[in-house]
Amino acid sequence: MNLIFMGPPGAGKGTQAERIVETLNVPHISTGDAFRAAMKEGTALGIQAKSFVDQGLLVPDEITVGIVKERLEQPDCTKGFLLDGFPRTVVQADALGSILNEMNRSIDVVLDLAVDRDRLLARLTGRRICKSCGATFHLIFNPTKVEGKCDKCSGDLYQRADDHEEKVGTRLDEYISKTAPLLAYYSERELVKSVNGEQAIDAVTEEIMNTLRGTNQ
Ligand code: ADP
Ligand code: AMP
Repeated sequence: MNLIFMGPPGAGKGTQAERIVETLNVPHISTGDAFRAAMKEGTALGIQAKSFVDQGLLVPDEITVGIVKERLEQPDCTKGFLLDGFPRTVVQADALGSILNEMNRSIDVVLDLAVDRDRLLARLTGRRICKSCGATFHLIFNPTKVEGKCDKCSGDLYQRADDHEEKVGTRLDEYISKTAPLLAYYSERELVKSVNGEQAIDAVTEEIMNTLRGTNQ
C-alpha cells in the first residue's frame, strides 16, 4: 500500500505511523525525521534545513522533494510506503505525482487526521521524544513509566526546539496556508479518507486500520 498521512503538526501522524508500519510492513518516511537526523549529523542538507526548521517554517520545496525522491527509489519502498509530513505544498504534491508516475506507481489513500487547534497546542508543547530511538511520548496524554526515560529503550527524552510555544503558532499557520489546500487537491482525486484524530491513541489506530481494510476491498 502507498499511503500518505496528512494532518496538522501534532495531529498524531508520527505516533500512528510507528504503530501502523509494523502491521503493514512498509517503510515509514518522515521528512521531519529526515531533517532532524541531517541536522544532528551536521550534513549539508542539515545545514540548509536548520534555519527553516528552527523558525517553524517549511523547508524549500526543491530540497524536500530531492530527499523524498531518493528515499522512494530505495528497494524497500517497492512493497509500499507510508509518507508522514510529505507532501506539504501543492508543488510537492505535483512533484510526488511525477516521481510515482515515472515509477508506474500511484498513491492508494491519503489519510487525514483531523484535530482542532487548541488540542494541537497542548499536544505539541507536551510532546517529548527519545534521543536514542526517536519514539514519541506526551507528558500528560502518553506519559512514560519513568519520568524523562523512554519506555522502549530507556533513552533520555527531550523537547523539540520547534515544539516550544512561540514556534508552534508559526507551524500551525504554515499548515493552514500551505498544506491544508492539499485536502482539496487529493479530494478531487478521490483519495482522502478522514479519521477522527481527537480520540485516544488506540482508538485512532483502530479507526485507521478499519479505514484501510475498507480501502483494500
Ligand atoms: P505529528 O507527527 O502529527 O506531529 P505526533 O504523533 O508526534 O504528531 O503527536 C503529537 C503529540 O501528541 C505527541 O506528544 C503524542 O504523544 C501526542 N498524541 C498523539 N496522538 C494522540 C492522541 N490520539 N491523543 C492524545 N495525544 C496524542
Ligand atoms: P515534522 O516533524 O513533520 O513536524 O516536521 C518538522 C519540520 O521539518 C517542519 O516544521 C518543517 O520545517 C520541516 N519539514 C518537514 N516536512 C516538510 C515538508 N514536506 N516540506 C517542508 N518542510 C518540511
